[in-house]
Amino acid sequence: MTAYCRAHESLRKDRMFDDPLAAAVITTVYGIGSATDEQLPRLGPATDDGSSSLWNLFSFYFAHRTVFYDNRVLNAIDAGCRQIVLLGAGFDGRAFRLGLPGEARVFELDQASVLAFKEQVLLQHSLIPHCHRVPLAADLREEIADPLIAAGFRPDQQTLWIAEGLLMYFTQAEADRLLDRVSAVSAVGSHFISEYFTAQWNFEDVNYELLNEKDRAVWDLLTWEFPSDPLAQKPGDWLASHGWEVRTCTTVGEFGRAARREVPPQFASADGPDIWLFDGTKGAE
Ligand code: SAM
Repeated sequence: MTAYCRAHESLRKDRMFDDPLAAAVITTVYGIGSATDEQLPRLGPATDDGSSSLWNLFSFYFAHRTVFYDNRVLNAIDAGCRQIVLLGAGFDGRAFRLGLPGEARVFELDQASVLAFKEQVLLQHSLIPHCHRVPLAADLREEIADPLIAAGFRPDQQTLWIAEGLLMYFTQAEADRLLDRVSAVSAVGSHFISEYFTAQWNFEDVNYELLNEKDRAVWDLLTWEFPSDPLAQKPGDWLASHGWEVRTCTTVGEFGRAARREVPPQFASADGPDIWLFDGTKGAE
């Protein structure tokens, strides 16, 4: 669905980014030739005609969070960072669409099955990264340092870590262990960008009773995946407890309201549950 959102965003006249990999993922899934038509096929709530309130919410979230991360990646690159690790890379297309310098190294960590499908899409659509891209199958609940270093990762160099759309699937203990392991191989000045829910989202937050069957099925599937004991600290406190200093901390609602798109009701005010968007910098020991 994230890829669908990015493919849809790429087709908009007022697009905030252009993601050729996202369109390639959707066309491969559907076995269709190209996503350059005006409309994409429907996938669960994913529909670009505004008729699904659930999709209006998701697409606003996915599109704005993508921009939040993009801005920070580009800032880090401008500041000289040349090592990026995507934790739960999924169909992240930053190695293909951000014009990263050729000497930059992007490590893409995810499950083997996800990476295998991504390779198939890349081959089918002849997509070539602008930088040095290293896919790496890994379980992010386990140690990652040794496989990363074996794949060419340099702990002595500043790193930009991206955990986009990941931590909401982790328990507090799993998130703590992941950040501990990241910290152990992060040079001072490294960055960590991520997001997670400010509070639990409930049925009433998405008007579940009013959703159609397809949209309910997607909501049920998504919420079934979330742990009962999620990461609950505020981002600044969580980062500080692992030796990182928060740099930016906002929410999808706050970030999106400033971006002048039509805002879904869930994000229209600061009252309801939201999603933190934040980044932090690794301090000295
Ligand atoms: N970061 C990508 C993006 O924003 O487009 C993908 C986000 S997707 C919601 C979450 C990704 O994390 C999936 O590709 C999933 O396979 C991966 N993931 C979740 N838990 C994982 C784990 N324990 N080890 C490796 N990958 C994991």
